[in-house]
Amino acid sequence: MAYKINTKKCLKCGLCVTQGCPENAFVVDKKVTESDGLKLYTVRIDENKCTECDTCFSFEWWCPAKAIVKGKK
Ligand code: SF4
Ligand code: SF4
Repeated sequence: MAYKINTKKCLKCGLCVTQGCPENAFVVDKKVTESDGLKLYTVRIDENKCTECDTCFSFEWWCPAKAIVKGKK
């Protein structure tokens, strides 16, 4: 299994990066601050760091958009 972020669902809130992945596998590729001060984060899961522990996928509070998906590598 590979853990990925569904970019169509992702709200770019950046919350997943701070939730405590034991391997720090959530990576911010790009951070944008909108003119109204809203911060947007383009994030991905680093497959080389992820140990597939399932924590981020199992806990509903981890991602408000349920954008973390499990798929084939
Ligand atoms: S917590 Fe979910 S919606 Fe927010 S940036 Fe991460 S994957 Fe996207
Ligand atoms: S499956 Fe585990 S190691 Fe991989 S990104 Fe999610 S919390 Fe981190």
